[in-house]
Amino acid sequence: MFGWLRRIRENARSQSREWMIRCTTCGHERSVADAGGVRFGAWGKKYTVGRCSQCGKLRRLVIHHPSRGPL
Ligand SMILES: [Zn+2]
Repeated sequence: MFGWLRRIRENARSQSREWMIRCTTCGHERSVADAGGVRFGAWGKKYTVGRCSQCGKLRRLVIHHPSRGPL
């Protein structure tokens, strides 16, 4: 009965592994899942602000998908 709901959730989970965030300052990239994908649940946004592990400071981060391009 809830198979469709489970499919949507599994789909969202696998997609969150593919999404990447890139620091606009140094270009450092990591996967959204590594960055704590839960916080990036609102997929309407192209940019977010977060701590870059390479800069060690709050940076503007761009969310993109390697095979689909920017949001
Ligand atoms: Zn950086």
